[in-house]
Amino acid sequence: MLGCMLYIQCDNPACAAINYVPLGKRHKDPNTKGVVWDINTKLGAAMLHAGIGERQINKFLTVLNMKAIHHKSLKKSEREVGKAIENVAKESVRRALFEEKEATCKQSNDSNELITVSVDGGWQKRGSGKCYNSLSGAS
Ligand SMILES: [Zn+2]
Repeated sequence: MLGCMLYIQCDNPACAAINYVPLGKRHKDPNTKGVVWDINTKLGAAMLHAGIGERQINKFLTVLNMKAIHHKSLKKSEREVGKAIENVAKESVRRALFEEKEATCKQSNDSNELITVSVDGGWQKRGSGKCYNSLSGAS
């Protein structure tokens, strides 16, 4: 991974003590309760933000002459950040719903006014001669 610890041994042969020098900050991963490097969590955020995966990150690191990162480690970072992003999104939706409810009730002077919503969705189909329906869709 990108965060690491330097082990520096004392030059004095009588001492030979090893000093541990962290090359960055660390924090506790709320999902695994383990201690992780901030830079690795930021890498997970960068992957999600840029929409790139393990292959692209490792190609990028390899071009920079840096060691590739195991896909399981990258996934762990992505999951940590993903959970946080999901929580922010849920809170944002909850707040927007509350504001919409308030505005609707204010307009109609009825505190129990129902909010009408309209949703449309669909999924991919292919005209290959065979019936094909995609498992994923958008709404
Ligand atoms: Zn020493």
